Amino acid sequence: MSDIESWIQHGVEMRRPLLVKDSLSDSEKIVIVGGGLSGMCNAYRIAQKIPEVEIHLVEKSERLGGVISTWKEGEWVCDLAVNATRAHPAFWRLVEDLNLSKQFKPSRTRAQSRWVLIGNKKHRLSPFTLFKIGPIRLLRALRKARRGGASVAQLLPHKQIADALTLGIVNNTSDNVDADFLMPSLTHFGPSPPIKRSSLNKRINATYPLFTPKKGTVASFDTGMESLISALQHQLESMDNVTIHMGKNLESPQAAASQFEVSVKSVLWTAPVVQDDRKLVKLSVFAVGYLNEDVSDIKYGYGTLIPDESIPISGILHESDLHHSVRAPGGHRLFRIMAPHSRWDGDEGKIRDSLQRLLSDKEPVLFRNLGVQTIPSYPPGYMKGLSKKSMDCSYVGWGVSGVSVTHVVDEAERVAELF
Ligand SMILES: Cc1cc2nc3c(=O)[nH]c(=O)nc-3n(C[C@H](O)[C@H](O)[C@H](O)COP(=O)(O)OP(=O)(O)OC[C@H]3O[C@@H](n4cnc5c(N)ncnc54)[C@H](O)[C@@H]3O)c2cc1C
Repeated sequence: MSDIESWIQHGVEMRRPLLVKDSLSDSEKIVIVGGGLSGMCNAYRIAQKIPEVEIHLVEKSERLGGVISTWKEGEWVCDLAVNATRAHPAFWRLVEDLNLSKQFKPSRTRAQSRWVLIGNKKHRLSPFTLFKIGPIRLLRALRKARRGGASVAQLLPHKQIADALTLGIVNNTSDNVDADFLMPSLTHFGPSPPIKRSSLNKRINATYPLFTPKKGTVASFDTGMESLISALQHQLESMDNVTIHMGKNLESPQAAASQFEVSVKSVLWTAPVVQDDRKLVKLSVFAVGYLNEDVSDIKYGYGTLIPDESIPISGILHESDLHHSVRAPGGHRLFRIMAPHSRWDGDEGKIRDSLQRLLSDKEPVLFRNLGVQTIPSYPPGYMKGLSKKSMDCSYVGWGVSGVSVTHVVDEAERVAELF
């Protein structure tokens, strides 16, 4: 594939290093460790391209999908992790290949507004929000951040705007997050596109199968993200060259190599790269439902981010406003609440009290604690460190690829192209 074709296929993902050993593509047998979206996509894309390669997908738990799962109770539907995808043709290609196009729909254009709560006031986020920083200050910060290794707080020197942005993506404050990892295009990390960005975007837009997403919209599955995992699992189970091993915890790439009698160069590690447990971001996720009339003051939209660390809630997503499918019984609205453990002590009464202030003084008709999620931490300098990482085996997945599902899905295509 020519350089320009690769950029059209993968877009700004081309700025990210691919931590894959050249020798992986010579393997006759590959062990993929981790059965989350990344492990499943890599198994699918490689198995599809080279039917002669024997693939073993190994998952330590008793279910595939990793952090992705969807909770359902009657007509209430709520995703525990990713609920929608932003635009990237690689994700659209996956949906088409898995025959999921009928249930994959763009979000409601009415629900695009996002707010950030500062003091007692909600401010609507827009591209113009960045001008609050001041154009000269912003340009100076951008120039400095291009030296590499900066935090998002250094890239966007306005604490509340920067925190709102990183909270919405990695649930961490901006001084703890690597700007190169989160926004490589802004910091100019890695190689630059061979043509102007505007013409590249135009050419990328022409490649979307199914439908071309409108600017600012996201897309989701009618019955939640778990639909994607079920379809992938179904495909993998039908492929002759793929074997899935459940309930098998492989402690290291070396352990994977010795158990499956392959060289460590034939191991593709998609499980999180081991990190200091204290630095991982842990948060509890709640599904909260109200009667329409009890939240009639809450504007229709995407959701609100809350940088103020004295409030135990960091984000409220308007699940029933956003998706094409309603996700709540008639006459009700569903909200997803994120409570990072760095600011919440486990007392559910405090979440209910905050909801009275933030959403409605009426009691919710639904209040469910859906469980704890963990997000890797990406401290400043993380991406620079990755590109210098000494590698015994190949590494993929959201620990290295980028935090969103589009990174993970596109990365699997890039890996399969090496074969
Ligand atoms: C709360 C939350 C909200 C999110 N929101 C969004 C969003 O709105 N948009 C978006 O694009 N993305 C979002 N994401 C990110 C998205 O979910 C991830 O990018 C993606 O699911 C990561 O997939 P993965 O396979 O790389 O990792 P994981 O899902 O972490 O999978 C890793 C797998 O490896 C297994 N494993 C671990 N260790 C071992 C071992 N030693 N041996 C064998 N198996 C092992 C685990 O059990 C797991 O199944 C969100 C994530 C969270 C947690």
